[in-house]
Amino acid sequence: MSKMRAMQVTRANGPFELVEREIPAPGADQVRIKVQACGICHSDSLTKEGAYPGIQYPRVPGHEVAGIIDAVGKGVVGWTEGQRVGVGWHGGYCGHCEPCRRGDFFACQWGQVTGITYDGGYADYMIAHSSALALLPKELSSIEAGPLVCAGVTTFNSLRNSGARPNDVVAILGLGGLGHLGVQFAAKMGFKTVAIARGSDKEPLARELGAHHYIDSQAQDVVAELAKLGGAKVIVATVTNAEAMSATLGGLGVNGKLMVLGAPYEPLAVPALLLIGGRRSVAGWYSGTSIDSQDTLSFSTLSGVRAMTEVFPLERAAEAYDRMMSGKARFRVVLTTGQ
Ligand SMILES: [Zn+2]
Ligand SMILES: [Zn+2]
Repeated sequence: MSKMRAMQVTRANGPFELVEREIPAPGADQVRIKVQACGICHSDSLTKEGAYPGIQYPRVPGHEVAGIIDAVGKGVVGWTEGQRVGVGWHGGYCGHCEPCRRGDFFACQWGQVTGITYDGGYADYMIAHSSALALLPKELSSIEAGPLVCAGVTTFNSLRNSGARPNDVVAILGLGGLGHLGVQFAAKMGFKTVAIARGSDKEPLARELGAHHYIDSQAQDVVAELAKLGGAKVIVATVTNAEAMSATLGGLGVNGKLMVLGAPYEPLAVPALLLIGGRRSVAGWYSGTSIDSQDTLSFSTLSGVRAMTEVFPLERAAEAYDRMMSGKARFRVVLTTGQ
């Protein structure tokens, strides 16, 4: 039991390679996790394609990890062997840099990102910093929990910090991996939930997920439709198309806010008068830290929010990754180790 499987990438745009490695031992303030499931996120392409500044290889991707603590390093407080935990994008924080001292742990200058600055969950075991751990509720399987600690926390945490209150109009732009969770969370949080996507074929699904209104951005005028509802208090943009994001801005009501979760490479076009006249704003949202993930898992258990998943065994990670990148997966792809 001293060896494990890991799916590593050895260079930018290189293939996934299934390798056997020594099972690592946790250092100070770290735990070892026996990985059960790991979701595949679009951001894993930063590891695969080498787009993350300063990334070093070989690297094992994966930041939607769910598993069991099976070894605890020196100095770890509050975590013990046998606990079920999740690890998301946020790979831990130092607690003593200036952002940490101000309580902005997400912006920690240590800058640890799971599966990018250290090896992630496309493996039988991984090492994580204790500050990156979220406790999993017993009601959730590891396959259910994995996507919730990245796609889940990103949508949940942005919505709960958006300033929207129950009965406010909240629109979710995009109905993919993030969007299908965003619609569920928005509806369960008591917002008048509007799903915006391309094509009328997605409407039944949007309604099934809890949307009260559906706007087909190909056939309908998004701005006019949102105006009919009184304007959106919040639009959560989960797409990666800058033009599609900008096109919704006119649908924001007074004091409305566009919250940007998707990351297009092109800049956003924002008319200044629109911002000034209605005191509207555009804001980005970072997914969250481990306690935010834990809240996401807790709320999902309480409310029944779940990701729709397609499951692949670890050794088929390359195929699973391609499936995610194709945009055809419904909606999150999850790897399992079978342990
Ligand atoms: Zn992610
Ligand atoms: Zn810090």
